[in-house]
Amino acid sequence: MRPFSSRENLRNQLLAGAGLLPFSAAPYLPSRVLASWRLRRIRSLVDHAARKVPLYRSLYRDAGYRPGDLRTWADFRALPTLSRDALAEVPLQDRLAEGTDPASCLHSRSSGSSGRSLTVFHQADGVAIQGLAFLRMFNMGMDYRPWHRHAYIYTAPFPSAGAAGGLYPQHFIHTLAPIPETLKELRRLQPQVLSCYPSHLRELLAAVGIGEDLGFRPQAVWVNSEMSSPSERKAMAARLGCPVYDEYSTEELTRVASQCRQGRYHVYEDMVHMEVLDPSGAASDGVGDVVATALHSFAMPFIRYRQGDLAQLRPSTCGCGRRFQELESLEGRRNDAFVLPSGRVLSSGFLLDAAYGLLMELKLDVLDFTFEQLTPERVQVELVVGPSFPVHGCEEVSRYLMDIFGEPLTLQVSEVEVLTRTASGKRNPIRSRVSSPQ
Ligand SMILES: [Zn+2]
Repeated sequence: MRPFSSRENLRNQLLAGAGLLPFSAAPYLPSRVLASWRLRRIRSLVDHAARKVPLYRSLYRDAGYRPGDLRTWADFRALPTLSRDALAEVPLQDRLAEGTDPASCLHSRSSGSSGRSLTVFHQADGVAIQGLAFLRMFNMGMDYRPWHRHAYIYTAPFPSAGAAGGLYPQHFIHTLAPIPETLKELRRLQPQVLSCYPSHLRELLAAVGIGEDLGFRPQAVWVNSEMSSPSERKAMAARLGCPVYDEYSTEELTRVASQCRQGRYHVYEDMVHMEVLDPSGAASDGVGDVVATALHSFAMPFIRYRQGDLAQLRPSTCGCGRRFQELESLEGRRNDAFVLPSGRVLSSGFLLDAAYGLLMELKLDVLDFTFEQLTPERVQVELVVGPSFPVHGCEEVSRYLMDIFGEPLTLQVSEVEVLTRTASGKRNPIRSRVSSPQ
């Protein structure tokens, strides 16, 4: 991602300043007030897309929609949804609003199950809300102060190194930097806030060793982009001496949800409109497909977008006072769920919890792991193990896992030196090459 020009930076700073108070108040507003604001916003976004974005113009015309038709939530729910893989087939110029200068946008890429990446554009002088979302996220988990240093381990630096006047400074560390170098950099920076993939945090903690001093003391850590289990985050928090929170964000939808101090996930309902749908496309009370609309993306709209994740939504009952809806459970990517020979589906969230529970219960010296379903009948487990891992440890893991799966499978458990990451440095611990049923 390129840095802001000075004009873009100034405009974003001014917009952030103007938007700070309403943005801070939004999570505490009654749900009906927020819902009515969202409907008005969605009406203007949908009509903008229907008029200016070739993809939506033809999609909505075919669905019989004309600008001005959207009056109720039922009208909105009648609009077609779009999957990530379907969007990846659409030429870039058909996804961009007419008149948008690509040079005035920030570009990023989202990788998907089909292997095709999706280029995402955001208007560079209209992303002030992303800065405000950082403030919100950190303040949900700690008392984030303007002088606090935030170190982030990511694929590319953010377009700005912080707010005006050197406030809220942000320091970039590349995901592909070797762990010893990353550790050295964190010790030099002494950040109060750290954000990274859970696999990076796991590797950093493994590199230091039990009982040794980490050499830096964050007040809170946020993990993102890969699945992590609540029990592992709890164990990492005990080790770090500070809370470890999960956040849910994507390139397409930007910030979607993050955890508050009570550990609940609140959806950022002034940034996205989230729906959870069952296989028939109706709203689901249980776990279903996340379908979301980015409320601030006009250059490249994402409307009723199927992110490919599974979750459950419920009204907030959280003691923190925020009225933003809660994600009851975040079950991971639909495509990473395991589909067993009987047709039974185990979500990646369930498998990750089970895997971590297994390691805790067996008290095995395992530093890291991946589970991959290669075919419906074949699952491969790779373990990076420590010095006290027993000789027959793999057999023990295999026996335990067979109980979890509970049906005939070929399970191959092996020790490896290192686990493979994607080109961007990401590594999802639970992966499947078997297509999930829709
Ligand atoms: Zn809360």
